[in-house]
Amino acid sequence: MERYSRQEAFFGIGSEGQKKLLESRVCIIGLGALGSASANLMARAGTGFLRLVDRDYVELSNLQRQMLYTEADAAEAVPKAAAAADHLGRINSEIRLEPVVADVNSGNIRALIEDVDLIIDATDNVEIRLLINEACHALGKPWIYGGALASYGMTMNILPGEDRPCYHCMFDDVVPDGETCATAGVLGMLTSIVASIQCTEAVKILIGSPDVRKTLLAFDIWNNEFDEMEVARNPDCPVCGREEYRFYGKVSGSRTVSLCGRDSVQIVPAIAGAAGDPEAAGGPGTAGTFGAAGDPRVDFDQIAGRWQACGKVTWKRFTLDLDIGDFGIKLFPDGRAIISGTSDEGKARALYDEYVGL
Ligand SMILES: [Zn+2]
Repeated sequence: MERYSRQEAFFGIGSEGQKKLLESRVCIIGLGALGSASANLMARAGTGFLRLVDRDYVELSNLQRQMLYTEADAAEAVPKAAAAADHLGRINSEIRLEPVVADVNSGNIRALIEDVDLIIDATDNVEIRLLINEACHALGKPWIYGGALASYGMTMNILPGEDRPCYHCMFDDVVPDGETCATAGVLGMLTSIVASIQCTEAVKILIGSPDVRKTLLAFDIWNNEFDEMEVARNPDCPVCGREEYRFYGKVSGSRTVSLCGRDSVQIVPAIAGAAGDPEAAGGPGTAGTFGAAGDPRVDFDQIAGRWQACGKVTWKRFTLDLDIGDFGIKLFPDGRAIISGTSDEGKARALYDEYVGL
């Protein structure tokens, strides 16, 4: 246990706490700036099992703040989940890492979180947070919300329990505020702080510390403002009040999403979001089918053959890429694709239908 000696020496953790941490299972959703910092901290701290979930691949503009990745990852456009697991495996080979290259949606959320003790939110997307909130409420799991934009960060522990507010009590709608990390920017120093606080709370929750924070923490590190707010439960909240879920348990159809500031569009066909009934989506080992190699719902062999005549085809470890000049198609094993060279969802959909056609 020499590896964790400095953590065990800390009064709040000790050898008992470390033992609990080594027996803990955590799912980190999103492996951008917040997620790569959290995955790094939780792996080094000795979390026994980490499920690392992300749908995207590494790009050069990520490296300023997404601490796990290298220039080689960006050059090869390695899926973030795979790159993260590769690097973390060399940092701590004594824990279990499960990379999941997938879009998180109502069809797979249950399988992704039902066998873990805690979920760390590292997404940049309110809709996915609302889904995580509903799923965690339904399954009685604690999760830790974290958000970061420009120099402004926020985090709160969303804990199961009748008197506790849920995320929906605070943020009850998908409000597009117009500002994103691509337009307003984001400081790597900020995302490290948010992730560090999230992980500190994660460790407290996992080892049963009485010092778990019950407030919403918000801060602006450029303007030196730090606030801690009490959040009351909303008695009319549909999620924690009435268990009425808007996303969880709903069938997830085909979706087309323009990716923020990327000149890219993600297409998620219905097959990649199948099994919308959470009761049907569970079952032992289900999450494993979303593992690093992806759920092989698509025959890369057959599609690669078809693509040969259309442009430059590259079969990578996790994706099949087609370069057709102005546009690129990166196809994942679950049928999902990221179309680059356009932010027009209609155009991207047409390209998907023409070249992938699922
Ligand atoms: Zn609520």
